[in-house]
Amino acid sequence: MLKKSDPEIYSALQGEIRKQRETINLIPSENIVSRNVLKLAGSIFTNKYAEGYPGERYYGGCKFVDIVEEIAIRRACKLFNSEHANVQPHSGSQANMAAYFSVLKPGDKILGMNISSGGHLTHGVKVNFSGILYKSVFYDVDRETELIDYEKVREIALKEKPKMIVCGSSSYSRIIDFKKFSEIAREVNAYLLADIAHIAGFVITGLHPSPVPYAEFVTSTTHKTLRGPRGGLILCKKEFKEKIDKTIIPGIQGGPLVHIIAAKAVAFKEAMNKEFKKYQKQILKNSKRLCKCLQERGYRIVSGGTDTHLMVIDLRNKKITGLEAQLILEKVGIITNKNVIPFDPLPPTITSGIRIGPVAITSRGMKEKDMEKIAEWIDESLTNRENEKILKDIAKKVRRFASEFPIYAD
Ligand code: PLP
Repeated sequence: MLKKSDPEIYSALQGEIRKQRETINLIPSENIVSRNVLKLAGSIFTNKYAEGYPGERYYGGCKFVDIVEEIAIRRACKLFNSEHANVQPHSGSQANMAAYFSVLKPGDKILGMNISSGGHLTHGVKVNFSGILYKSVFYDVDRETELIDYEKVREIALKEKPKMIVCGSSSYSRIIDFKKFSEIAREVNAYLLADIAHIAGFVITGLHPSPVPYAEFVTSTTHKTLRGPRGGLILCKKEFKEKIDKTIIPGIQGGPLVHIIAAKAVAFKEAMNKEFKKYQKQILKNSKRLCKCLQERGYRIVSGGTDTHLMVIDLRNKKITGLEAQLILEKVGIITNKNVIPFDPLPPTITSGIRIGPVAITSRGMKEKDMEKIAEWIDESLTNRENEKILKDIAKKVRRFASEFPIYAD
């Protein structure tokens, strides 16, 4: 049907399906959802308006929508052991926006992680609403160890007296000590926002400490290690329930994406499963193996390793920029993204590093031995980047290999 009525979009969709199936996706913020999650995300719930919350909507006809949202909230609270969950944010950025708006006023000060150390745009970057509306100050990782220096964070917090401290990251590969962050926040009388967008899957399976007992607000995306549909989530203590809910609607959103909330509910149930914990453990095994194989080939990994699903490779000793590496690897069918390294001398459009992680490929069933192959292909491609014949040869091997691990498209 679509093929006939809209051949341009049909063809782009077919292209995307083929690409996802035939490439090795190492972007650590992406994943592959289950067939059921995909089904709900494309379901008839998309037809429904449901401004408000279960039992108190601005629209009629919300009987089934209420069931779905109530289940999603209940499951999120159970999974994360949280007093309250708001499952309506359209994205991780909107979840963060709601956390800020609920207790801060424009002009208040926030202390977040510098983007080059691993922070996200919404943690106070000048070109983002968070840096435009609030006075943002930053902490970095330590120059030597490339780890968070909690004493330094404390010093900055004591000097700057922020109203909110933001922890959590997009490219920091080590365990984050949320308890220490909360002690610092208490000391300076600041709210603590823990953004677990990347590590949510580990948090619910006990493979990373949870911030829920410590932070007033915990935000997340649902589409990364959590393996749900694209979207956001806010967890908070009961005392902030009303503030958070009101900030989402009527504050910053209108109608929720009910089809996505339904898909989130399904993903939350899947995440309660034993299989999900096995999957998270396998991500860690794959990540550590990939890291080791790259280090053996002379690649410098920021902070010297990884405790999570991701790592940033500092490519300076290989005399190639992050952008160049991303483009070369894409040529052979290995999808990565350029990423700044701590104190990067190059701008974010070029960068000295790439960020990789085996989240999506672990969902496809790849194991440690496959990481060895992938590290070898990465190294061969970057080393022989001027040699089109070698690159074509690797591309053929990558295509054949990736195709052995199926992806459902409907
Ligand atoms: N927070 C962190 C730590 C992230 O890594 C991301 C996305 O990469 C977000 C928030 C924003 O999520 P979204 O892209 O859904 O707005």
